[in-house]
Amino acid sequence: MKILVINSGSSSIKYQFFNTEKSEPLCRGIVERIGSGKSSLRHYKYKKRPFVSTVDAVDHNQAIRHIFGMLTCPELGVIGSYKEISAIGHRVVHGAELFSQPTLIDTKVIKAIEKFNDLAPLHNPPALLGIRACRRFAKGIAQVAVFDTAFHQTIPSYAYIYGIPYEFYSRYKIRRYGFHGTSHKFVAEQAARIMKRPRAKLKLVTCHLGNGCSITAIKNGRSMDTSMGLTPLEGLLMGTRCGDIDPAVVLYIMEKKDLSIKSADNLLNKESGMLGLSGISNDMRDIQRKARAGNKRSKLTLDIFVYRIKKYIGAYTASMDGLDAIVLTGGIGENSRLIRKRINKGLKNFLTKFNAKLLVIPTNEELMISREAAEVIKKRKK
Ligand code: ADP
Repeated sequence: MKILVINSGSSSIKYQFFNTEKSEPLCRGIVERIGSGKSSLRHYKYKKRPFVSTVDAVDHNQAIRHIFGMLTCPELGVIGSYKEISAIGHRVVHGAELFSQPTLIDTKVIKAIEKFNDLAPLHNPPALLGIRACRRFAKGIAQVAVFDTAFHQTIPSYAYIYGIPYEFYSRYKIRRYGFHGTSHKFVAEQAARIMKRPRAKLKLVTCHLGNGCSITAIKNGRSMDTSMGLTPLEGLLMGTRCGDIDPAVVLYIMEKKDLSIKSADNLLNKESGMLGLSGISNDMRDIQRKARAGNKRSKLTLDIFVYRIKKYIGAYTASMDGLDAIVLTGGIGENSRLIRKRINKGLKNFLTKFNAKLLVIPTNEELMISREAAEVIKKRKK
């Protein structure tokens, strides 16, 4: 099957085109700075030199038109007509409680996703722009929404309900949803393959460590708990997000500094985490470099980063009553030898006690989305 994967953000659209028999995309690319008057397109065809060009993309419709133009371009494209596409898989961040599976998109589904815009104001609206544009340009081609939150819909209520008056859950659906679900699911499947054991018999803790970081307890192939919450702000220390914090701290700071809700949101999401602590950068490579050179706050930032991961691994091992493997993935998880070494060293006795492995597995959310979209199409045909 030929599957186009679209990841549509507010100012860029990334795409990858898969033949489901292979794990390498036939081509991939990105349209950036949509609507800025300075849009550009980068297109990479397997084993060919990259193609880079400025393009006119005032909105998502035009960006999608350029992407289809590249896919069907005689020299750099991979298909003759969009009609060869079996399905388009869209990354959608928030599916709330309604979507626990990849879902075939129709007008009703679009309306439902729209309803969750206030839960993911930065992510769901641009995903919908991408979906609508594809419906316009690839009429009749099946489209599938793959949700970041879906994998975590198996988390039990005692792990997803917050300790605030119950009405906030029943009326406003305030609860833990969790994110990076596609990545956690992908690496968990890979881990089972590598360990040559059935998914249904494994207790895993998967750590997605990128700019955003989250950690998930996966028992018997199902997400049992995860560190991100109603929004991606909760949990581990991240590039610019604070992660776990006493909620009273936020109220205290708002009062002391006379901060608006918007400024407080900015402080916690954009100015905190590794950036706020180190005062240097949100990039792990910079923090490591500075720590090596003796910078104290960078060293402290690394200590906090690793400590939280260890703490969650301990908590999730207890909640699953066992552990077979810890999986590291994402830019930091896959590439930082230092973080890997420190987790390994810090948990040496723990890993031995549980006879658990520490695995590094590259994530591939686009490949996972293409597989999920293909599954939906196969089921529909049956
Ligand atoms: P995103 O969440 O935006 O997809 P990535 O998964 O690409 O982000 O991860 C970005 C993070 O990975 C950055 O903090 C970056 O410093 C870190 N990273 C990438 N390569 C390395 C490396 N070789 N060593 C340490 N950190 C790395």
